[in-house]
Amino acid sequence: MSRASSGEFEGVFEVERRDLLARIGRLETKSGVLETPSMLPVVNPAVQPIPPAKIFEEFGFEAVIANAYLLYKSPHSQRVREKGIHAFLGFPGVVMTDSGAYQILVYGEIPIEQQEIIQYQEEISTDIGVILDIPTSWKAGPQEVEYSVNETMRRAKEAIEIRTREDVLWVAPIQGGTRLDLVSQCAKFMDSLPYHIVALGSPTTVMENYMFDVLVDMIMAAKLNVSPAKPFHLFGAGHPMMFSLAVALGCDLFDSAAYAIYSREGRYITPWGTQWLSELTYFPCSCPICTQMEPKDLLELPQRERYEKLAEHNLFVCREELNRIKQAIVEGRLWEHLEVRARSHPSMAQALKKVIKYVKHLEKGTPIAKPKGLLFVSRESIYRPEVYRHLKRLFNRYRRPLARDVLLLIPEPSRRPYNRSKWVKNILKGIERKRLDRVHVVVYASPLDLVPIELCETYPLSQHECSQGLKVVWRNRVLRSMLKYASNQGYSAVFIVPNPPILDEKRAELLCQWMADRGIRAEVVNVEPEREHEKLIEYLSSRLGEAVGR
Ligand SMILES: [Zn+2]
Repeated sequence: MSRASSGEFEGVFEVERRDLLARIGRLETKSGVLETPSMLPVVNPAVQPIPPAKIFEEFGFEAVIANAYLLYKSPHSQRVREKGIHAFLGFPGVVMTDSGAYQILVYGEIPIEQQEIIQYQEEISTDIGVILDIPTSWKAGPQEVEYSVNETMRRAKEAIEIRTREDVLWVAPIQGGTRLDLVSQCAKFMDSLPYHIVALGSPTTVMENYMFDVLVDMIMAAKLNVSPAKPFHLFGAGHPMMFSLAVALGCDLFDSAAYAIYSREGRYITPWGTQWLSELTYFPCSCPICTQMEPKDLLELPQRERYEKLAEHNLFVCREELNRIKQAIVEGRLWEHLEVRARSHPSMAQALKKVIKYVKHLEKGTPIAKPKGLLFVSRESIYRPEVYRHLKRLFNRYRRPLARDVLLLIPEPSRRPYNRSKWVKNILKGIERKRLDRVHVVVYASPLDLVPIELCETYPLSQHECSQGLKVVWRNRVLRSMLKYASNQGYSAVFIVPNPPILDEKRAELLCQWMADRGIRAEVVNVEPEREHEKLIEYLSSRLGEAVGR
C-alpha cells in the first residue's frame, strides 16, 4: 500500500489492487473518499442534461468536474460563492473544478489572473482544484509549445504561494503536447512540487481524432516521470471505448464530457463505438432508457427531452464500462479487456501495439499471481506482461539444478500442471528408477515457450488457456527459446521429443543442427508423446553412457 501526502496537506491516496499500471485506490478528499479509477462527468449548469444530484444518486458517480472559470464569469458567480459549489450544483459527492485552461485552448488568452481563479476555487469550496495552466495547442509552433510548458511550470510554483486552504487537493497539469521530451521535463518538475495530484493536460485534439497511439506515448512520458504514489489525472478523456487504455496506463482519474456532447449531436455511445441514433433499429443495451423505448420512440421526442434521455443512456454506458474495468483489475484480466477493445476500433488496435512497447513498465504493476488464469485470445496476447516476466526470469535468473546437465525437452502434455500428467509422471519415475540423475525434464509449450518441470505449478505456467491455432502462430519463438535456453544453461547433451505442429521432426532436426553449431550435442528421440514412456527411458539410459559418458 502506498501513501502519498504532500507536506502539510490532507489527502491520502491508498492503492488496494493493481493490474498492469492500473490501480484500484482510495483518494481522501474533504467531501469523502473517492474510489479510483474514477470517471468525473463534466457538468455545466448552463446546458446540463442530467441534474448532478441524479448523477450521484442514480448513476452512482462519486465525483463530478465543473468549470470554475465559466462559473466565475456567469451571473451566478456570487451565488456559487455564497452557497458553495456542492450546494449550488446539488451534488453531495466530490467536486473537482477546472480553471479555464480549456477556454485558453479554444479562445486563446482569457481575461483572468491565476490569483483570481485560485481564490475563487477556494471560496466556492472545491474539493480538487486546478491551477491556471497554459494548455499546449495542437497547432502550436515549437516556441509556443515551449512557452506553454515553461509558463505552466512557473504558474505551478506561483500557485503554491497563492493557495491558502489546506483541505483542497491541488492538481499540477503536465503540458508539452506531442513533444515527449517536454512532457517528461514538465512531469519531473511538477512531481517535485507539493501537489497532491498530477495530470496530463490538453490531449483534446488527440482524443477527438482518436489518435490513441499518440496518447499512449504522451501518458507514458508523463507517468514514468512522476511518483507512482501520486494519483494521476487525464484531462478530457472522451469515449468509454478508450477508458480501459487510460486506466491500464495508470490514469486514476479522468473527466469526460462525451455523454453530454455526443447526446447533443444525436450520437448513441456503445462500449465499442458510436452510432447515430437515427441509424438504430434496435438498442444494444439494457439501461432504463433502452428498455423503456425503441430507437424510433426516442427519435420522436422533442429535442430537449431526446437530448436528456440520450445523455442518460450515454452516461450509463460510461459507468458500466468503468465497472467492467474495475472488475477486470480485481480478476487480473485488464489485458484481456484491452484486447477486446482493441478489436472494436482500428485506433484502439494501433494503441495496443504502442502499449506493447511499454511492457517492461506494465510488468512492474502486474501481480505475481492472479485469481484467474490468463486467456490468450489474439496475436497481441503473447506480448502481455506475464509472458515477458516468465521469459525474463527464465533467461536472466533461472539456473538449472546443478547436477542435471542433460536436457530432456518434451512436448506439453494435455494435463496441467504438467507433473500430474500420467505420461510425465511415468517419465519422472523412470528417470528415478534407472538412476538417470543427470536428466533434467523441461516442457516446451507455446505460448510460454519453456517450463522446467520443477516450476510447472508456478503461476501462470499452469494457469492459462490458448487456442491451438495461436500456439502454432507462435511456434518459431518456442524454437528460438529452446536454442537460447540450452546454450545459456550449459547442458552437456540435449534430447528432444518432437511433436507437430509446434515442433515436427524436421524442425527438431534443424534445432539439433543449430545446437551442434554451438557445441551442444543434441539428438531427436522419436517416441509418441503422452503414450510411450518406457521406450523413452530405455533410449535415454542406453544413450547416456555412450553419448555423454564421462
Ligand atoms: Zn441504454
